[in-house]
Amino acid sequence: MNLIDAHCHLANLAQTHDLSPLISEANSHGIKGFISSILMLSEIDWHKNNPDRGILIQAGVHPSFDECDLAVEDISSLVQTNTLDLVGEIGIDRSNPDLEGQQILLTEQCRLAADAELPVSLHIVGHQANAYSLLKQFPLRYMVHGYAGSVEGFELLARLDTCFTICSRILKDDKRELLEAIIDDGRYLFETDITQYYVKPNEANPLLRLIELFQRVKQISGKTESELINTQNETLLHLLGRFPW
Ligand SMILES: [Zn+2]
Repeated sequence: MNLIDAHCHLANLAQTHDLSPLISEANSHGIKGFISSILMLSEIDWHKNNPDRGILIQAGVHPSFDECDLAVEDISSLVQTNTLDLVGEIGIDRSNPDLEGQQILLTEQCRLAADAELPVSLHIVGHQANAYSLLKQFPLRYMVHGYAGSVEGFELLARLDTCFTICSRILKDDKRELLEAIIDDGRYLFETDITQYYVKPNEANPLLRLIELFQRVKQISGKTESELINTQNETLLHLLGRFPW
């Protein structure tokens, strides 16, 4: 198996956990790669000090995470030093009342990604029509991470050059229609979105949640392991323009 965690926060988790044995164990269970998200200045150094061929890096000014202390200038300098594989997570979140400010930030960061020819990882909660009309102005490859909104919103975002990550939120019964729509669409990845805040007491290795998620998707969808992995690999190849694992 060659499973990739398409959205996680390794530098954030590293503040409370010694990651090296956890990553080794995940590797031995078939989790071969990670797309790790930087949302704070303090997380940049961890990635610089812990280079790993299995870890791709993204950074972005998040639309609603209060502790995000990055500015567009920081993303720009990370892009200029070739530190990033993607720009993100960026987007629009209805919990932030400043819609206009979010649209400006999203536009500026999409422009950076377009100039650097990098794919973009999106965080879209509500306001899908709004996000769609902004994003369609940029000919970018997008990954919508952790989408758990309406099926209509999904269909709108799916008109872009987009893929979607499957997260545990959409394994619940009331999200079955959305999960099926994402699987039928055929452009999907898997993610844990793990941070230090999500680790449960006594959870030995939260990175292994990806295996659990994958097994549940397999069960619900009736697809074989190789069908799911092949779709994951094709989706990554298209998104990144190369297959790093
Ligand atoms: Zn995240």
